[in-house]
This record gives sequence, structure tokens and C-alpha cells, in this order.
Amino acid sequence: MKKLIFKNIPQLIALVKRYESITQEEIDNADITGIETYHGRLNPLANALTGFGKMTTCTLCIAILGEDAIKEDDASSLDCSKCVYHELQPNAYKYSCIEVAKETYDAIDKSSEVDLLKAYRNRAKAIRKAFKEYDINFD
Ligand SMILES: [Zn+2]
Repeated sequence: MKKLIFKNIPQLIALVKRYESITQEEIDNADITGIETYHGRLNPLANALTGFGKMTTCTLCIAILGEDAIKEDDASSLDCSKCVYHELQPNAYKYSCIEVAKETYDAIDKSSEVDLLKAYRNRAKAIRKAFKEYDINFD
């Protein structure tokens, strides 16, 4: 087991569990009022449900950068070197999360209420697999 020391490991575990436990009913009843697309590519539904797709709402980003450090639309404040995903993408200092099992990230990004549940489950599975050699306990 490889050891990991990142401040946002608890948030990663919580996120995986959220992806695994979210229900179709929650998806169907999500309130996307006021959620604007972000550079034309934010899934308002996934953002409303899990903070997905935006550093100002991402629990992993907030945990390492602090809410005050994250400025709307300002990727220059983004520093992924402190993020647990960086372990898997050591060359990506911005958006290293997107590069981990990218196809499952993109699937959530593109999902509608019809396929979002499956996309979340697939992403959870892929994240577990990506970290399987590390001492992160998702159970
Ligand atoms: Zn993030």
C-alpha cells in the first residue's frame, strides 16, 4: 500500500460515497435554479447535486484552496499540487481531477437526468480503482 498525505482525502472518500448513494429521485428533483454554465461547459444538474465541474463548488477544491482563495472564473488561483488527484496526475497542476479516468468525468459532464445516475456510479468505480494501491479506505 502506498501512503497518501493530502488534506482533501476525506472529501474524496465522501464524494465517492455520494456518487454511490445518490438516487434517481434526487436527480429528478434537483433544483438547478440560478446555476449558470461555466465557460459554456458546466452540467447544471451535476453541479447542483455534487458541486461537480466548478472549483467554487467542488468540495475537494474548497478543502485545499479555502473558500476565500477561490475566485469565480479565476483559474489562476487553482493549484492542484495539493489535491489528492495530483498523486495520479503529477504533471497536471490544473484540473488534475479531469484527467483521472477522464471518460467517466466527461460522461458526468455530458449526462442528462436519464443517464447521470449511471455516470456517477461509473465514476465512483473508476476512482476506487485508480486509488486501489493507496491506503485510502473508501468503506
Ligand atoms: Zn475540485
